[in-house]
Amino acid sequence: MIAVAQSVPSPSRIGVDLLAIAEGAPVELDLELQAVSEGVLVTGTVTAPTTGECARCLGPITGSVTIDLTELFAYPESVTEATTEEDEVGHVIDDMVDLEQSIVDAVVLQLPLSPVCRPDCPGLCQTCGVPLATAEPDHHHDVIDPRWAKLAPLLPDEAADGGGGKQ
Ligand SMILES: [Zn+2]
Ligand SMILES: [Zn+2]
Repeated sequence: MIAVAQSVPSPSRIGVDLLAIAEGAPVELDLELQAVSEGVLVTGTVTAPTTGECARCLGPITGSVTIDLTELFAYPESVTEATTEEDEVGHVIDDMVDLEQSIVDAVVLQLPLSPVCRPDCPGLCQTCGVPLATAEPDHHHDVIDPRWAKLAPLLPDEAADGGGGKQ
């Protein structure tokens, strides 16, 4: 069994549109590589910092992601190699395992597609686009949609016409 405990720079940006491990960010590997009959079993955790944008207010987000990895890399010509689809298991190629794709796949699954800077992020004002988290507490606009502006004078009459159900 080989233990791998080291930090490697991320070879590329790994993640989803709004949240990712930046290229060059330190990826902490804490893995065990174990020879089994069919290949090499890699287990352990991978941790890395993430940066991105809040899906609601577009503010910056920093955090981290940890994935649990359990991945069998099959030896060439092993039964596992012969009986599984190409991309179902990894493969030992030239006595090496390529962890990058396994890590990329696991990280992408783990990251939220719509990350938020905090669970109750109020997002942006729909009228002017300022982040409501940093706006005045009573931030609002006294603007009536032009379509409603035309209707507004009619509304009191309609109400008086007996929608209220008073007899
Ligand atoms: Zn936010
Ligand atoms: Zn506003």
